[in-house]
Amino acid sequence: MSARRVLERADELAAFTEEPGRITRPLASPALDGAMERVREWMEEAGLATRRDALGNLAGRTGEGPGTLLIGSHLDSVADAGRYDGVLGVLIALECVQELPLALELVAFADEEGMRFGSSYLGSRAYLGQLDEADLALRDASGITLREAIGEPSARLAPDDLRAYFEVHIEQGPVLEAAGEPLGVVTAIAGQSHATLVFEGEAGHAGTTPMALRRDAIAAAAEFVLATERIALDEPGLVATVGRVSVPGGAVNVIPGRAEATLDVRHAEDPARGRVIAGLRMIGEALRRRRGVRVRWSPVTEHGTTPLTLADGLAEVLPDAPRLPSGAGHDAVILSGVTDAAMLFVRCKGGISHNPAESVTEEDVAAAIDAAREFVRVAAEKACTT
Ligand SMILES: [Zn+2]
Repeated sequence: MSARRVLERADELAAFTEEPGRITRPLASPALDGAMERVREWMEEAGLATRRDALGNLAGRTGEGPGTLLIGSHLDSVADAGRYDGVLGVLIALECVQELPLALELVAFADEEGMRFGSSYLGSRAYLGQLDEADLALRDASGITLREAIGEPSARLAPDDLRAYFEVHIEQGPVLEAAGEPLGVVTAIAGQSHATLVFEGEAGHAGTTPMALRRDAIAAAAEFVLATERIALDEPGLVATVGRVSVPGGAVNVIPGRAEATLDVRHAEDPARGRVIAGLRMIGEALRRRRGVRVRWSPVTEHGTTPLTLADGLAEVLPDAPRLPSGAGHDAVILSGVTDAAMLFVRCKGGISHNPAESVTEEDVAAAIDAAREFVRVAAEKACTT
């Protein structure tokens, strides 16, 4: 009955979109505001006292006691999204409202995906009062700054006595489906290294330059891509992706003198990620020596792994569930900076997300609600006795 309601509400929220026929809910848009207000009605029906901040975050609160247990997720989306990423965690939080020995707060963050401003976690950072001038100066594709979009940021929406954060989210990967398991306990959110690479060789005539005398930038980049794949396969748990490769100004009869690529490396253990980055830098050095192509390496972002400190507590509620790290980033990265955190993953069909084909089953959602309710009860009791 609860699971059915969650699925029906997810269908209803899917209608809040900036693009008819697709689900697209960026920060500070009428579609996101409409979804927030609909969830606010459900929170109030559940007996919560609600409030919002300038960014558009929504919080609902009930009960009292020595501290606050926070549950939620985000309601913004990528362009042409599915209907469960973020939404499922907010709707399952609504099913977890119960009598507890401390205050319970539900939260719906207004920006996790960062679609509009290319940002990271503006919603949870605003909730904690962490937005700074650099955030407010971010510009969207039409040149509007975040400050122009939301006005002056309001005071921190979060209470000062957070004792734990809990989020339910679709897995966004195929591990649970492959294991035949509906739910998984998230152990950590993987650290990430993003870099841009420029391969500098020498442009030349495609007809007159003998093969042995070339310094072909794209051939070097191709070798680097395959080496990245080989090294990643040799390091258990590591994922590495070259998502974009280009030859600026490339032409059919010109040996590329320059190629550009992006690199994304993730692992739930920072030393493993560091080892692989060091190995890839050595491959860049080898390309310079052997091919005469220099590899210039510019780090873009570098995030260490976030261990989820309440993973063991969640595993007590789900002793047979697989434990797995999250390769995708989540608001728990930010909340972990101020409180203990746990995340529960729900199997999604084919591991597909950020796509209209996102799909979960009613049975899996029912199992997630049962586990979430139980974990909230146990976590609240523990938070009050420690
Ligand atoms: Zn999400």
